[in-house]
Amino acid sequence: MTDTAIDPTVTARTVTTRTVTDPAVADRLHLLPQTNRLRALHTVIRDRDASRADFVQTSAQIFRQLLDTALDLLPVVPTPVRTPVGQTYHGLRPAAPVCGVSIARAGESMEGELRAMLPQTRIGKILIQRDKTTKLPHFHYAALPPDIATSQVLLLDPMLATGGTALAALGLLREYGVFEEDIVFVTLLSSPEGISAVHARYPRVRIVTSAIEERLNADAYMVPGIGDFGDRYFGTDQPR
Ligand code: URA
Repeated sequence: MTDTAIDPTVTARTVTTRTVTDPAVADRLHLLPQTNRLRALHTVIRDRDASRADFVQTSAQIFRQLLDTALDLLPVVPTPVRTPVGQTYHGLRPAAPVCGVSIARAGESMEGELRAMLPQTRIGKILIQRDKTTKLPHFHYAALPPDIATSQVLLLDPMLATGGTALAALGLLREYGVFEEDIVFVTLLSSPEGISAVHARYPRVRIVTSAIEERLNADAYMVPGIGDFGDRYFGTDQPR
């Protein structure tokens, strides 16, 4: 991705986020409409003084919007049904089973909303941790359904920063036989660097995000950002 694909000058309603302008990129990068409602939700979770309860509850509302957008990208098949008044409704249903895969720990925060929206959905898990010194991702553990290769996969991680963890998770899904075009990466905040890293290696993976940040700082945190999502969500940044 180039800087022309994400135009930092288009700030009329976004202020802290960028806007996708290149149609070729817009096909694989889905930025939620930057509505006042979404910005109000971001205002709560980006506030360093937000309570944990507000942070968790408000994040969940954004996850819903992200998951709705992601589910809308998946293939469907025509499914006519008879209505109670004897008419036909020309409906749709997913063409393949949907499987969520969360990247622990932060991705686990998105599982509840997916389960609430699609109770039958199976949810796999990948644990990849970044070495604090080398900053390189290390794979620890995966639990994925055996037939995941024939599923539509929603890969869940609220933070797409350097892209290192995302690339490791996507590499594992490819090893399990999942096609790039059957993966939607669902993320709350993303950085231009992370988006570029994912699309450089996996150009057909679609990304759904609610904000594209300005950049990464020297500690690989996104700016203006949200801080450490996992710590804030799970309360591990707080004494009792
Ligand atoms: N992980 C986080 O929790 N926050 C960032 O800004 C980057 C990675």
